[in-house]
Amino acid sequence: MSREKLELVEVSPRDGLQNEPDIVSTENKLALIGHITRAGFRRLEAGSFVNPKKVPQMADGDAVFAGVPKRDDITYIALALNLRGVERALAAGAKEINYVFCASDGFSIRNNGGTVEETFGVWPDVVATAKAGGARISATVSTAFGCPFDGEVAVSRVVEVAERCVSQDIFELALADTIGVGAPSDVYERFRAVKAAIPAHIQLRAHFHNTRNTALANAVAAVEEGVRVLDGSLGGIGGCPFAPGAAGNVPTEDLLYMFNRMGFDTGVDLDAAIEAAQFIGGVLGRKTPGMVSRAPKWPS
Ligand code: MG
Repeated sequence: MSREKLELVEVSPRDGLQNEPDIVSTENKLALIGHITRAGFRRLEAGSFVNPKKVPQMADGDAVFAGVPKRDDITYIALALNLRGVERALAAGAKEINYVFCASDGFSIRNNGGTVEETFGVWPDVVATAKAGGARISATVSTAFGCPFDGEVAVSRVVEVAERCVSQDIFELALADTIGVGAPSDVYERFRAVKAAIPAHIQLRAHFHNTRNTALANAVAAVEEGVRVLDGSLGGIGGCPFAPGAAGNVPTEDLLYMFNRMGFDTGVDLDAAIEAAQFIGGVLGRKTPGMVSRAPKWPS
């Protein structure tokens, strides 16, 4: 019997590194991306095109995109928060753009520079510009499980923002637990509500942070709810400069170990993913939070 496919999108070069205070060199970012692609990942966030004064770690996005090996089977995602970012991503050669909205105004004002309502004004232009530039485009609803400034976010609010995201022609919609407050019950509820509200051809993607140790459980809940695209960050590194107290992303190698044993086919080699996680730990000079990369090999 062939195993069911599950896509792991590796976000360590973007979400994983963006909050690191010491600038990681472009060379090390490209070396990390090399580890990631050799491990078998076929889609990864390579960088973001945001204000370099606000997120200096991502200031070399052009150089990273210029330096990645161009391969038809690998998609390097560029994250953007405004039209200027989309234009820069296209100029850098990005073929896929992930555009981020927020479910809450408190976070939207700090992360995206305007209220949720205000940030949607440019959305038709953003999608048209991306497509004219030859890139496909997805949207993320960040703070979809809770906001560090506004607190609880209602399911109806998440659905409303999701509906606005899909008012333009996008291929994928992600719900992100930006600060890691959700539990599996929230995951079932929110994905179920969003799925019922958007066209069936739009692929769903889930993005979890492990601030409260619920990320693996949330990932299983998302998969049970039918999601087949999950973000992870090798080593469990990550955070957000505009989300106080947010910890790392769910460690990709921990996702990989678990979903391998659950019978899913991700196309990623666990040993190589662990090597990649260890490489990042070495670059950052510290022990990363992921557990599988520190555990004895199993089966031994
Ligand atoms: Mg994140």
